[in-house]
Amino acid sequence: MLRRSPPLLSPLSPLSQHLAPLSSLLPSPGSVLSPSPSDPGRLTPHTRCWRGVHGFEDDGRGAAAVLRPSCTAEVQSVLRYATAHRLPVIPQGGNTSLVGSAVPASPAAPSLVVCLGRLDKIHELDQTEAYLHCQAGAVLKDLQAAADDQGLHFPLSLGSEGSCQIGGNVATNAGGSYFERYGSISSNLLGLTAVLPSGEILDLHSTLSKSSAGPSLRSLFVGSEGTLGIVTDVCFKLHPAPASTELALFSVPSLSAASSLQALAASTCGGAVSALEIMDDRVLSLVSEQLPLPLPAPPSSYHVLVELHSHAASSARESIEALAAAALSGGAASDGVLASSGKEAAAIWGVREACGVAVNAFPVKFKYDFSLPLAKWEEIAAEARGRVEGEGGRVVTWGHLGDRNIHLNVVFDADSSRQEELAGLLEPFVYDFVEAAGGSISAEHGIGVCKAGRLDTVAGGGGERGVALLRQIKAAFDPLGIMNPGKLLQIE
Ligand SMILES: Cc1cc2nc3c(=O)[nH]c(=O)nc-3n(C[C@H](O)[C@H](O)[C@H](O)COP(=O)(O)OP(=O)(O)OC[C@H]3O[C@@H](n4cnc5c(N)ncnc54)[C@H](O)[C@@H]3O)c2cc1C
Repeated sequence: MLRRSPPLLSPLSPLSQHLAPLSSLLPSPGSVLSPSPSDPGRLTPHTRCWRGVHGFEDDGRGAAAVLRPSCTAEVQSVLRYATAHRLPVIPQGGNTSLVGSAVPASPAAPSLVVCLGRLDKIHELDQTEAYLHCQAGAVLKDLQAAADDQGLHFPLSLGSEGSCQIGGNVATNAGGSYFERYGSISSNLLGLTAVLPSGEILDLHSTLSKSSAGPSLRSLFVGSEGTLGIVTDVCFKLHPAPASTELALFSVPSLSAASSLQALAASTCGGAVSALEIMDDRVLSLVSEQLPLPLPAPPSSYHVLVELHSHAASSARESIEALAAAALSGGAASDGVLASSGKEAAAIWGVREACGVAVNAFPVKFKYDFSLPLAKWEEIAAEARGRVEGEGGRVVTWGHLGDRNIHLNVVFDADSSRQEELAGLLEPFVYDFVEAAGGSISAEHGIGVCKAGRLDTVAGGGGERGVALLRQIKAAFDPLGIMNPGKLLQIE
């Protein structure tokens, strides 16, 4: 088990003495947001996660300052200063993390939250070579729009795409809805530039994907959660825009039927299958209780959303109709809705996106983001249900069927002060279950503060030896341990 070590930072001088020097390093207006006792709460959007679960309220007494550099040189100056004064640095993108990785872990050690939002320029979009090179603070939705404008497709799409930034996506190894078709961040990341804690620039920029010239240093930043340095620029692969897109929502009686539907989709629609999302009936009930959304499908144990992207104008419609016919006649689905317009397709996606929103409306909630073999999904949900039902807890699941990423969510209509106590009903059970099943405790949201200390349990992660090597890598990049302390890894 990974040991939780205390931060190695030396006792810190009060943050107030650093504000004037930092302001001289970042002279443009609004670049340094300092805490103010007369205006408590002004920094809270940066010191607390958006769900209000991680981080802390800014009370104006100086637990954090927020820095908004507008160029790479300013990021360098900030990191050089932080290193010289051993100040903890928390890189922050859109602050949409679900595991508390983008906010300071505690108000005990004053820290610098470095927001990348001003680094939002698109340097270049090359249609011939199909890449987009931009600054790390560019918002994902803006990159999708820029690719669309040029008749190309940006391969990443998340529920948080209106706020999250491409640097944050790289640092969390974000997954998302179209992983099925376009793959992971690693398979689309061509290059990046990062500033190391020392202030040195590590230029890993490339516009080409193929290289067998040694281990890939850029991959170290994928999933690094701001613990190695600050990513300032990213180069991403673009794909041809689909000529036709079709979407269907199937009512599915069981998980084994969902698996049959997946196999049918692969054999009927081939490589056009781009999204395969699944929701259980319990989460749809929650959505309909919390939000005035028309539910598009009749009651069933599970609902599977299939989206096809085809490069021939007519074939997506033909393929989805063939899939529907085969699924209904073979028993993989009991019913189905084919979206007849972009508006209908958006409404169905709206229901899928509403799952997280409905959960968030509860005062006490637990979100787990596991990858698990399909055969284990019902078992973990049933065992969790058995543990929480006595306290009025409700267990709902949804996820990315194609990549076996289950979002297991547990909600309680209880006083929020009981969050920690109720966690004891679920943890460490859920983590032990995932470890025993050979899964991952984080399929796409990252480790953050929630799961720091459990990295050695992830299948394929090398166990304690793997974590020891990661610690050495961390120490090579960040010998003083100033980068995002308390998250992911800490140096011994
Ligand atoms: C409604 C909703 C839906 C979501 N759906 C998905 C989903 O489908 N798939 C998925 O994977 N995630 C999902 N997420 C989680 C989240 O959006 C992703 O983890 C996203 O990649 C975080 O990006 P961000 O810019 O908000 O990063 P932040 O939350 O600001 O930061 C996340 C981590 O990255 C680090 N970081 C940020 N920027 C940089 C940088 N430039 N350099 C170095 N480190 C940096 C931070 O220090 C932190 O450790 C969802 C979140 C919400 C709220």
